Amino acid sequence: MDIKIKDISAALEEWAPLVYQESYDNSRLLFGDQNSSLSRVLVSLDVTEEIVEEAVAQGAGMIVSHHPLIFGGIKSLTGKNDAQRALIKAIQNNIAIYALHTNLDNVASGVNWEIGRRLGVQNAKILAPKKGLLKKLVVFVPKADWKKLSEAMWQAGAGSIGEYDKCSFRTEGSGTFRGSENSNPTKGERGTLHEEEEYRLEVLVEQHRESAVLRAMKEVHPYEEVAYEIYAIENEHQDIGSGMVGDLAEAVDTQKFLEKIKDTFGGVVRFTKPHKGQIKRVAWCGGSGSFLLSTAKSAQADLFLSSDFKYHQFFEADNEILIADIGHFENEAFTIGLIAEYLRKKFPNFAVLLTENSTNPINYL
Ligand SMILES: [Zn+2]
Repeated sequence: MDIKIKDISAALEEWAPLVYQESYDNSRLLFGDQNSSLSRVLVSLDVTEEIVEEAVAQGAGMIVSHHPLIFGGIKSLTGKNDAQRALIKAIQNNIAIYALHTNLDNVASGVNWEIGRRLGVQNAKILAPKKGLLKKLVVFVPKADWKKLSEAMWQAGAGSIGEYDKCSFRTEGSGTFRGSENSNPTKGERGTLHEEEEYRLEVLVEQHRESAVLRAMKEVHPYEEVAYEIYAIENEHQDIGSGMVGDLAEAVDTQKFLEKIKDTFGGVVRFTKPHKGQIKRVAWCGGSGSFLLSTAKSAQADLFLSSDFKYHQFFEADNEILIADIGHFENEAFTIGLIAEYLRKKFPNFAVLLTENSTNPINYL
């Protein structure tokens, strides 16, 4: 079955909205015509020349990868390195390239969710939730219309908090207005002061749903001019942010847990002095997560699993936490299956292939 690239992008962005990527990132459709259709995609962690060749050989018209092939601006395209050769080959063979990187790191059902599942952690929650991603929408509505209006806004995604949806608050009051000669009021007469019994209806709106919620609100609201206000609020978004933390069902012997990490992820586990005999609370971050060490300590994690720690950063464990550093590739390799599984669920009659090539640039003796 052929699917349009824009439908694949839309499905991926429903899961990992682009607005949740970090400022340095470049998650998006990097190359390809939104309106063209294809019958198979290839999922990988990185896009290398080898991966593009694999897509060509497999007849895949699109590569969906975790790490973006293009990060900064490109001033020339001469094939001077592997990334450029990969891009040239993708263009020549008309293979679209899509990346979902830190936006997939930052959503609660993304990269870190899968790592937590593999570690056997329960009650996983975001370790460092982000602020500034939530807004309060206040709208004034005639009493008779509040339910219809709320339903429309809820449908568009307003009023969702963690495991709860359809959240709202309303207070009673009176609204006044007078329409001009050119107005077309649904309540009262033009040119006459009108008083209407209204509700002040308040809902929480996530940043990525704001335009959809406003569209739904304006469509259903009975007034010609909708009176509404949007406020930025300082609350953390508990489902968006870096890393995760959770507890094991039962405390596990520290040595055994380190072995489990090695068995689960492969590669090499580098770790600091075990300061406790058992591990119960675990924090983790896919990719380079050393910046979260102090947050993991504050969350009282016994162990922090991540990648790319530098020598001096290991000292910062300081007998308060156990740092377990695994390879960046190994830490995120499960992301390939996670993305493929998501796409297969969204498009059941569409071929989603997992790459058979390892793009890990690091070898171990
Ligand atoms: Zn990464």
